[in-house]
Amino acid sequence: MKQGTGRPAYSGVAIGPAYVYHKESNQLPASCGDPAVEQQKFDQACQTACDQLGALAEKTRQELGDEQAQIMEVQQMMLSDLDFLDSVADMIRAGASAAQAAQESGDSFSAAFAAMDDEYMKARSVDIKDASQRVVTILCGGKTGFSMQEPGILVADDLTPSETVQLPKDKILAFVTRQGSSNSHTAILARIMNIPSLVQTQITLDDSIDGKMMIVDGFEGHYYIDPDSETMTNMLAKQKSASAYRQALEQFRGKESITKADRKVNVYANIGNPEDAKIAMSGDAEGIGLMRSEFLYLGRETFPTEEELFAAYKSVVETMDGRRVVIRTLDIGADKQVDYFGLEKEENPALGYRGIRICLTREDIFRPQMRAIYRASAFGPVSVMFPMITSVWEVRKIKEFCAQIRSELTAEGIAIGEVELGIMVETPAAAVISDVLAKEVDFFSVGTNDLTQYTLAIDRQNAKLDDFYDAHHPAVLALMAMVAKNAHAAGIWCGICGELGADLSLTEEFIRMGYDELSVSPGRVLELRKKICESEES
Ligand code: PEP
Ligand code: MG
Repeated sequence: MKQGTGRPAYSGVAIGPAYVYHKESNQLPASCGDPAVEQQKFDQACQTACDQLGALAEKTRQELGDEQAQIMEVQQMMLSDLDFLDSVADMIRAGASAAQAAQESGDSFSAAFAAMDDEYMKARSVDIKDASQRVVTILCGGKTGFSMQEPGILVADDLTPSETVQLPKDKILAFVTRQGSSNSHTAILARIMNIPSLVQTQITLDDSIDGKMMIVDGFEGHYYIDPDSETMTNMLAKQKSASAYRQALEQFRGKESITKADRKVNVYANIGNPEDAKIAMSGDAEGIGLMRSEFLYLGRETFPTEEELFAAYKSVVETMDGRRVVIRTLDIGADKQVDYFGLEKEENPALGYRGIRICLTREDIFRPQMRAIYRASAFGPVSVMFPMITSVWEVRKIKEFCAQIRSELTAEGIAIGEVELGIMVETPAAAVISDVLAKEVDFFSVGTNDLTQYTLAIDRQNAKLDDFYDAHHPAVLALMAMVAKNAHAAGIWCGICGELGADLSLTEEFIRMGYDELSVSPGRVLELRKKICESEES
């Protein structure tokens, strides 16, 4: 048995085979530089895919009948669709490889179909994705991206948020990385996914551990490879007691989050993409307190279109079935980097061109987002908030822009709902002038991850500084108390969507400060509700 330790980023015990993730395994081949050659590769792969689908249709017809066989025939037709082929050819001419062009065109056609109103067309979105993925797989010599055949524990040097969003989430039982800080977005994603994870381990990334039985103890920060039988027995027992604890929390499902003194606190969930909304619903969240829009931009090669964004937001609103959804506009920059934004490398990216600073200077990026958010608001209660605010003029400019988008959509005859406008309070500047800002907006949501980083001047990404990153620092708590007081003085609500919102040792203090909403990872909702229900605070 080999064993080691790391810093827990999320608790729980996971047991399963180890999968070693190498950076390059998740990348599609780049173009050879000659568009004609890439086009030829695509044409050949497309032909092979059509032949495979034809043979599959025949076999299916014999075994399962006509109706099932038609699925393959529809996919065959999709691969000869002229719009799809033109899109691929355009991308190849613009420098993409055959595989990149097939994947990207497949994704955007699939998203366009998913956004259609007609249920039949909507359902074809999966077929388009399947068909284009078949071509991509052929182009990659049978191997596409990182694949996990069965659920397992992902072991990596480090994972960027954009790599994490592309991983097969349904198969990952735990993350173990050599690098990474517990405040990074990858750690946050692990929490959203509700899976144990360890960062800053000394694990050796050689392929000899690939496939070996592994245990991650996210409570204590231990991992074991090839565990002996005693360790296995102990860990199975620990896993069982964790599941008994979760089972006991079930009595809070469907209950109101209300203190013994009758004080209601909304317990919402943080999500990264539309799929997570289902996790939020099964976690019994009362709404979404933070949808990080930037995850819709990660792990792809071009900007999402208004239609794609609309489809994503609408799907979250529909999944939440009448519960409020607070959408944050994109917060690209710092650790969330996307090549196609073409951002210059910066000395201090956390203090750089990020969040609202991008949106306010790039209307081409801001406009489709805001239109998509307003359009989605026709399907259920939506609030929108803006990250990295420091000044009143930013908020006024945003409000003007939103008013313009509203009238534009109304003039086009497109239905929109009432959309609350709020800001994230995550810079000390915003906290200090929160009395003035409160008069401008409908709500505040405190981003304690960045508020801690900027108040203490400690890079949240720097693993070496994890011990200095003290979110309980009196300066952070004093700013938070001030923000809640100023919000209420102006008659607006305030919440917390940073990771500190889930810190049960502070729940009562947050209630005393006056916070109306706490937004946490979906897996933490029930235990936070329990804490609120057991509190005497008024
Ligand atoms: C925060 O800063 O607390 C926050 C919620 O935003 P993010 O973690 O995405 O920066
Ligand atoms: Mg932030």
